[in-house]
Amino acid sequence: MQREKAMTFNFSENKCLLIAGPCSAESREQVWNTALKVSVGGKVHAFRAGVWKPRTRPGGFEGMGAKALPWLKSVQEKLHLPVCIEVAKPAHIQQALKYGINFFWIGARTTANPFSVQELAEALKGVDCAVMVKNPIHPDLQLWIGALERMMRSGIKQLAAVHRGFHIASGSTFRNTPLWQIPIELKVQFPHIPVICDPSHISGRRDLIYDVSQNALDLGMNGLMIETHFKPRMALSDRNQQLDPEALFAVIDKLRVKVHSSGDPTFNKKLKGLRDKIDRLDRDMMRILLKRCSLVQNIAKEKRKTGVTAFQLQRWVAILKSRTLWAEKMHLMPDFISKLYQLVHEESIRIQIESMNSDSGKRGIKK
Ligand code: PEP
Ligand code: MN
Repeated sequence: MQREKAMTFNFSENKCLLIAGPCSAESREQVWNTALKVSVGGKVHAFRAGVWKPRTRPGGFEGMGAKALPWLKSVQEKLHLPVCIEVAKPAHIQQALKYGINFFWIGARTTANPFSVQELAEALKGVDCAVMVKNPIHPDLQLWIGALERMMRSGIKQLAAVHRGFHIASGSTFRNTPLWQIPIELKVQFPHIPVICDPSHISGRRDLIYDVSQNALDLGMNGLMIETHFKPRMALSDRNQQLDPEALFAVIDKLRVKVHSSGDPTFNKKLKGLRDKIDRLDRDMMRILLKRCSLVQNIAKEKRKTGVTAFQLQRWVAILKSRTLWAEKMHLMPDFISKLYQLVHEESIRIQIESMNSDSGKRGIKK
């Protein structure tokens, strides 16, 4: 089979990139029917499908493998819809290229393994292709960045990150908790890399897809990858989170894509005025925090004289209880205030321990 020259997918062509398609390519019929439906109206910019599925435990559906590549090739050629697939080994890349598929993503389980990522990066050197790197399963930003850097070092110009949420041990509404601050931090460090949200693997259930997608767009993410199957209830993998094409279009039509900034002078003036007020309030808040820290030092002095511990469980429990109650009365989110006071109290304990153990008994507020 000769490699057919495919255009390289360009991430910057769309304000909000939309990728849709099944979790896995299951049959010629499923691939074609799904692709045909999602291609209607040109709203979807690329078609996704897993060919080799990395399953956490053996015995599940592990994908159709290379057999699915000709099905995807015909989607790309007949519907003019670029196709992307997951690759986990250099052999996957070589086989896909033979079918003109040169748009890849690296899955969460692979991103977590620098040896595998390096092998993929080497296999992609000099290849005309576009690559998306999913975040690793666990909330480790460095591993995610590391995988992106390996791709950059291989000269991949069309590179994007995919935020698919993180596995955390405790119970959560989500299959994979979004921990939005992690993709935001990635954006801070690498502003030129587009970040695409995968609401399907975050949600794990159909009914959350719209909310997670809108949230991602409101945070300035550059696109969405939404699992879509022409008969989701028959899907061989990720059955509960796939949308049918009608539901996909209902989500897309309801989404509100926003701009990063505006040229409207009235809006910009109003925004500046409000931000100036916030800046003043934040400075006031910091002055109050400084006063609080000074009081904490006085407490440390007294505790040091008397030989009482810095941390006192009853006081901490009382602080948490009263502050969340006050929050409720003041119509502030108790959860927010509880998180805020965890930080404030942690700092208070740090100041006290440092101050109680220093020779002068004075250090503490500043590092
Ligand atoms: C997938 O996209 O189908 C997939 C397996 O995703 P992840 O690597 O994010 O689990
Ligand atoms: Mn899936």
